[in-house]
Amino acid sequence: MIDPHTHSTASDGTLCPRDLMKAGSAAGLTIIGLTDHDTIAGWEEASAALSCAGLALLRGMEMSIQIEGEVYHLLAYLFSPSDERLRNHCEVVARSRRERAQRIVERLGEVMDLSWHEVYEVARTKSSRGKETSSDVILGRPHIADAMVSRGIVASRREAFERYLGAHSPYYLPHYAPPACEAIEWVRSAGGQCVLAHPRSRTRGRALKDATVRELAEVGLFGIEVDHREHSPRDVAELALLAERFHLARFGSSDYHGAGKPNHLGERTTAPAVVELLIANCQMEVLRP
Ligand code: AMP
Ligand code: FE
Ligand code: FE
Ligand code: ZN
Repeated sequence: MIDPHTHSTASDGTLCPRDLMKAGSAAGLTIIGLTDHDTIAGWEEASAALSCAGLALLRGMEMSIQIEGEVYHLLAYLFSPSDERLRNHCEVVARSRRERAQRIVERLGEVMDLSWHEVYEVARTKSSRGKETSSDVILGRPHIADAMVSRGIVASRREAFERYLGAHSPYYLPHYAPPACEAIEWVRSAGGQCVLAHPRSRTRGRALKDATVRELAEVGLFGIEVDHREHSPRDVAELALLAERFHLARFGSSDYHGAGKPNHLGERTTAPAVVELLIANCQMEVLRP
């Protein structure tokens, strides 16, 4: 059972990488993909937990990308962690995410008692729990939501998104993301492969057009997430056909975020043959216990 797309406290998940590995094992997974948003900061801790957790680790990252002025997500797997352009991507996006979170909190400050300091502390404390030093967390709207929850302004991340943080909210602001084709080129030249994440998810506004998927396939996209909780049965059927038409591998995942979302590990999975093909096309290895 392979679940190739999950999040830890290195970004907006609520389990630290070590606990995520253990939870993956408890859920019966044989391979787990760690794909935090725009960071590989969780790879080391997850690798160190391999033998104790007893499942294999597929190292990845969910990159923010831009298509026609909107932000979408691209799963990047098994690329060299020392690649200059990808390291630069992480730095530039982290900075933009932080500035953007600050600006969203400023706007929200007009209608609620919430400070940037609180949001930052919530994010930092979660990401460094149980560690000597705190590495910087990738800031996202879920951290703003968490601060609202601790303040008692809302009951859950979900409520925070519905009332204040959604893409159509007056408080919403985007962050910087590079063009999709460039990101694919960077990952491939760093020895990795890319999978388009939840292309029909409408939580961020617009669903991706088929013509866009074709263009991405032409520049070397490896696969596409078909099986995902934010896809309707009709989306799944249409995406499965799209995958066949453009020769893209069919992926499925939980997109697990710990307690931050109702998604549970292994609720959707990817076929072993697909993951084997992915690995065969990458320069880095899956880490085994
Ligand atoms: P951001 O990366 O700051 O644009 O925030 C988007 C992230 O928020 C996504 O990756 C999801 O993890 C999370 N998210 C979006 N909608 C919800 C929701 N309704 N409840 C919980 N988390 C959400
Ligand atoms: Fe997320
Ligand atoms: Fe995503
Ligand atoms: Zn995700």
